[in-house]
Amino acid sequence: MKENGLLLILSGPSGVGKGTVVDELIRRNENITVSVSMTTRAPRAGEVEGESYYFVTREDFLSRMAKGELLEHSNHFENYYGTPKAPLSKAMSSGKDVILEIDVNGAFAVKEKMPDSVLIMIAPPSLSDLRDRLKGRNTETAEVIEERIGRAKFELGKAHRYDYVVINDDIEEATIAVETIIAAERLKTSRRRALICNLLEDTKND
Ligand code: ADP
Ligand code: 5GP
Repeated sequence: MKENGLLLILSGPSGVGKGTVVDELIRRNENITVSVSMTTRAPRAGEVEGESYYFVTREDFLSRMAKGELLEHSNHFENYYGTPKAPLSKAMSSGKDVILEIDVNGAFAVKEKMPDSVLIMIAPPSLSDLRDRLKGRNTETAEVIEERIGRAKFELGKAHRYDYVVINDDIEEATIAVETIIAAERLKTSRRRALICNLLEDTKND
């Protein structure tokens, strides 16, 4: 039987480069896949239904939530965001490592339900870099950008509760840092029960 893949939770302020790093991870590692969240927010220019998000109405979101189809959900700037359960379990049981790109509240909710999950906070080199990236992305008004900076301060204030913190100064270095985390997590004794049993058997029988 195939071992379950890892569940990696990437959080960090809007504009820090999570999407950019995840795209790079997927491009370089065929065993990594990303969970597509559901949201009631309107699509931004260039966003693709079923790839960036599943864009749904508020009624649809609330009905799926009530039916227990979401692993977790959160509310941002009057929009709902949530993680659909079914595709996540399917990908993990096929041995894929799955990335959830979700906010801090969602991350803590998942960690409580699935303690084996790995929490990674992606942080900017500084808040002024973050502001520049949000401006450069050109997808939000100045007012929304300041709202997002306020939210960023809250999210970065939770970094100490994460398993790892990666600074996204350089995309290549940040991607390698996440790949290193994945490699280390795979080698953890807690994920290698079968191997440890074999080692113990071997020492007993020698
Ligand atoms: P998020 O998914 O966290 O909201 P994005 O991946 O959309 O962030 O990145 C926000 C903007 O910052 C994009 O324009 C992206 O090209 C840019 N960006 C991402 N990583 C870096 C980096 N290390 N240095 C400079 N710009 C970056
Ligand atoms: P954005 O509107 O910039 O795409 O996302 C806003 C915030 O919602 C980001 O912090 C992002 O990580 C978070 N988010 C996206 N999808 C989910 C999800 O499924 N669940 C939770 N809890 N947060 C999400």
